Amino acid sequence: MNNTTHQPEPRQPVPSGDILIKGAHLLTQDPELGELVGDIHIVDGKIAAIGTDLQADDATVIDGTDRAVLPGFIDTHRHTWQGAVRQTGIGWDFAAYRQYIQLTWGPEYTPNDVYVGNLIGALGALDAGITTLRDESHIQNSPAHSDQAVAALQASGIRGVFAYGWPSIDSNKWMLRGEATHPDDIRRVREELLPDDNALVTLQAMLRGPELSTTEVTAKDIALARDLGIRSSMHVGNGPWGPQFRGIGSLGEAGLLDDDLLFIHCCTSDDEELKMLADSGAHASVSAAIEAVLPGLGAPATGRLLKFGIRPSLSIDTEATVAGDMFNVMRAALSSHGLGITFDPDTYGELPSFTPRDLLEFATIAGAKASGLDDRTGSLTVGKDADLIVFRLDEFTTVPSADIPASIVGAGHPGNIETVLVAGKAAKWNGRLTHPDLDHIRAQGEESRDRLLATPLVEG
Ligand SMILES: [Zn+2]
Repeated sequence: MNNTTHQPEPRQPVPSGDILIKGAHLLTQDPELGELVGDIHIVDGKIAAIGTDLQADDATVIDGTDRAVLPGFIDTHRHTWQGAVRQTGIGWDFAAYRQYIQLTWGPEYTPNDVYVGNLIGALGALDAGITTLRDESHIQNSPAHSDQAVAALQASGIRGVFAYGWPSIDSNKWMLRGEATHPDDIRRVREELLPDDNALVTLQAMLRGPELSTTEVTAKDIALARDLGIRSSMHVGNGPWGPQFRGIGSLGEAGLLDDDLLFIHCCTSDDEELKMLADSGAHASVSAAIEAVLPGLGAPATGRLLKFGIRPSLSIDTEATVAGDMFNVMRAALSSHGLGITFDPDTYGELPSFTPRDLLEFATIAGAKASGLDDRTGSLTVGKDADLIVFRLDEFTTVPSADIPASIVGAGHPGNIETVLVAGKAAKWNGRLTHPDLDHIRAQGEESRDRLLATPLVEG
């Protein structure tokens, strides 16, 4: 994906202390600051000042000429464990996804495969400017699988939300309206691994929700998450299951909707449900790229959500079937909306449209709100952690830029991302990931991929 058009420059030392960015186009996503040409001073991992003519004698200086700086992207839903089988399912339908991932490879995953998949996925996210990753982890085959998923997120340097899901063994028990309640081992993870909600990697729950389990099971699962003091997500509006089981509607009727819930896809959730979602303050995640390519999942709900005042977050879903960068998702949201107007003008013609600026908001601050992390990330705001990206505008894929958000959304790719900071620490610097062990991780990824792909296919 790194179709960068410039020659790589010699490697520069990665900064370890404070950083001063000078004279960059700041797309702050902070409504009080808006967009400006200015400086950012980063001290002890936090944004200490934003302004013009800032001085800092001891800081490493980033020259912001021909650079845009924006908060890091926030992917609110990715099954990161599938990192080592990325792009194996380009063109799959859901039956193929179920056969390969859920029935064949999922049960074969060792704890080490989970570690490798999560580490590769998180490093790929960082390379693409994603600084916060909600890892929707439905590979809890054993406590060791959970431990390794968390360890990999921590080793990657990304801001991670480990959303504890369910096992990828015994798929019929855990999917297809199964009666089992959420695995109890989440209590151990909460108490022993991720008790600190201020850490770089924190815990949430990935619940099956009323479409993959039942409303009664979901009520119990939400109660468990709330008892643990954590937020929850669930997939709803999935193709024909949306109108059949009405995930959001059934939870609304049970009095369970609240602002600690994140609803993923919402493609076939009806208008009444989207209104309930809006009224409750709950959040939405649009995975426009996979929704556009996986037959039957349903069209991205971007415009329909906006109609009800919901500013959606964006997400990748699975790298098995789509690329792991946010540019692809933003453009899929636009192209799907355009196709909607072409093929169903009566419905889509009436919906609100959205601009590149809106999409950058969805990909940053809206994701922070959906993840419950907007007090520390999602915008360039003094006092927040310095999670930000430096985007080169002098590449020959974007030069001469007439409108910076339009250049980023319309033509951006991971190769444009020159620097990525997470809590002020450089995860990518001068166009290269800074993780010290990349060659070893590549080799581990190939080994895990080869072993999984050699598994005889299980018939559905
Ligand atoms: Zn998903």
